[in-house]
Amino acid sequence: MSDVEIPPLSDQPYLIDDPEDDRPRLQGCECADCGKRVFPPVAVCPECLGENMEPLPLSREGLLYSYTAFEQGARWVGGPYIAAYIDMPEGVRIFTHIDVDDPGRLTCDMPVILRVTEPVVNADGREVLKFKFAP
Ligand SMILES: [Zn+2]
Repeated sequence: MSDVEIPPLSDQPYLIDDPEDDRPRLQGCECADCGKRVFPPVAVCPECLGENMEPLPLSREGLLYSYTAFEQGARWVGGPYIAAYIDMPEGVRIFTHIDVDDPGRLTCDMPVILRVTEPVVNADGREVLKFKFAP
């Protein structure tokens, strides 16, 4: 049994500042042992259980893999909203919400782009950024 300490999710950053411009981007991680790529970042590889996870900055554009529309969400989500999986060029699939006025515009495999919100206060009273994708 490993004695590696797994940091809480709130301390595993998934949004990073891009040094090339002033817009944030998502960050996953890649296992240095087996090459498995995942999002959000994790401390232990889900494929080989290795502990050598390295940061993997992700593109801002991906392809809509699949989606579904919810007319009513939990009270903290509201509704209606679109939940989706996005395939990123780096080989990870991201679960997210889609920001679109007309869900009829959506088609599988269409390009979508990252949208980061203004800071919001979470249930712990901390300012956090949320993200969605949009066509
Ligand atoms: Zn691995």
